[in-house]
Amino acid sequence: MAAKTDANCIFCKIIAGQIPSLKLYDSEKTYAFLDIGPISEGHALVIPKHHGAKLHDIPDEHLTELLPVAKKIAIATGAEQYNILQNNGRMAHQMVDHVHFHVIPKPDEKQGLG
Ligand code: 5GP
Ligand code: ZN
Repeated sequence: MAAKTDANCIFCKIIAGQIPSLKLYDSEKTYAFLDIGPISEGHALVIPKHHGAKLHDIPDEHLTELLPVAKKIAIATGAEQYNILQNNGRMAHQMVDHVHFHVIPKPDEKQGLG
């Protein structure tokens, strides 16, 4: 199935290059970039190129790369500890209605950043 897009969606605009982003990964079905308001250094977002607000809105074929890419990014940060988060709905703290996985590295306490 071809990717569905929404002209009013901020993340669809990022995928289309209409809004700039710091790109980390880009393939046929998946895009990853740095979060504009990072919780920690290296906080990234991994999104399907198919528009949908919640996880259950996205066809399986557009979901398959999301966790492997989140894993690659987590490894690339070098963080031993990190969160992978995915929120669905306002009650669950979702602000942007295009599915995204957060990759949030936890600072290394040995470097005195924790
Ligand atoms: P949510 O609360 O929906 O799970 O998280 C949305 C995330 O998207 C937030 O961490 C926020 O900082 C990020 N975000 C919102 N707008 C933009 C944007 O225009 N560019 C980037 N890079 N991140 C954004
Ligand atoms: Zn979208």
